Amino acid sequence: MRETLILNASFEPLSTVSLRRAVVLVMQDKAVVEQSHPGLRVRAANIDLPVPQVVRLRRYVRVPFRQRAPWSRRGVLVRDRHRCAYCGRRATTVDHVVPRSRGGTDTWLNTVAACAADNHRKADRTPAQAGMALLVKPFEPTPADALLLALGRTDGAALPEWLTVSRAAGSAAELPATA
Ligand SMILES: [Zn+2]
Repeated sequence: MRETLILNASFEPLSTVSLRRAVVLVMQDKAVVEQSHPGLRVRAANIDLPVPQVVRLRRYVRVPFRQRAPWSRRGVLVRDRHRCAYCGRRATTVDHVVPRSRGGTDTWLNTVAACAADNHRKADRTPAQAGMALLVKPFEPTPADALLLALGRTDGAALPEWLTVSRAAGSAAELPATA
């Protein structure tokens, strides 16, 4: 699978995405092609573009962190795509896996998105005590997720597909520094 590097408007490397998503970014006028494969073109119904190796966002995106994402309730909801970690339905609240009353902290690994009903049902108990299994394991967002957060889309369901940044591509920290 071909990957395309995304640069911020300032030319700072942000992340990589699939070629398909990079093309969508360009088609939506959100990015311009900075570097392309010589002689290769993407052709479809109404597309005829050089295959982009590097695209640059037209608008500067403020990325609040590079290595670690600061924890926030909103961030947890975005990370979990507004899906309840206990039932999979739409989540509007953040649950502390280990409740704060039991020493649980405001951290990525101790918090999950939860629907109000499950959050209320679990109350001041651990999942084991409440007999409620976590469907997903909480994780620390990658720098690629930071891009998503920075673009300000809070409703997971409404995220454009190109924003589902590839996780396999490595973190922004591994990308070469700008010249
Ligand atoms: Zn739920």
